Amino acid sequence: MNKIIVAIDGYSSCGKSTLAKEIAVALNYIYIDTGAMYRAVTLYALRNKLLSNDKFDKQQLIESLPQISVSFSYNSTLNHSETYLDGENIEGQIRGIEVSRHVSKIAQVKEVRAKLVEIQREIGKEKGLVMDGRDIGTVVYPNAELKIFMTADYKIRAQRRFEELQAKGDDISYEDVLNNITSRDNDDTSRSVNPLIQADDAIVIDNSEITRDEQLKIALQYVSEKISQ
Ligand code: C5P
Repeated sequence: MNKIIVAIDGYSSCGKSTLAKEIAVALNYIYIDTGAMYRAVTLYALRNKLLSNDKFDKQQLIESLPQISVSFSYNSTLNHSETYLDGENIEGQIRGIEVSRHVSKIAQVKEVRAKLVEIQREIGKEKGLVMDGRDIGTVVYPNAELKIFMTADYKIRAQRRFEELQAKGDDISYEDVLNNITSRDNDDTSRSVNPLIQADDAIVIDNSEITRDEQLKIALQYVSEKISQ
């Protein structure tokens, strides 16, 4: 069967990764969460004291980039890939509010983007890939066979993310989550390098009022149309 690339872009916390993972499992494709890669570099910068609330040593980060390794390894128990920074599994450390607060600064650095986009393109050489992020259908894979642009009401997104973080035991308020989501959306859409924009040929899925199963069914319908073309 024809293998394709499915590019999923959209706003923060609107369930891109959930949908991308489910499509990948259904098709037996590789799934790559590019947000995790920006989060991994953010964790590196925080750990190495290049980044804090009042400081960002962008030059030092750029100089360190050749030594930073971001990779993925498939976890067969969880049925998806996990993110590694310099050989260490960092999945448990990149999803919290601390990394979320700083990641937009890192995502604005064009040298960081160039490095990560190169890795992302290498992974998709054989197709059979579902990749989610902000610039997948516009920059990383402008020729992807299927582009999905996801959105949802920002208050619904914040409520879902808040419940997810609470379940993990994060001590955080709904207002903090809402502010983080709106400020990341703002940073992502307004940055000069590879901003979040909807590709002209993307199909839009607004999941404010639909279930996970419904959105998967819609996406798989588009996938099967593209595969049979
Ligand atoms: O997808 P996630 O919310 O985990 O992404 C974290 C951050 O990484 C986003 O807020 C965005 O600033 C950045 N990002 C990006 N380009 C991508 C993926 C993520 O700029 N392709």
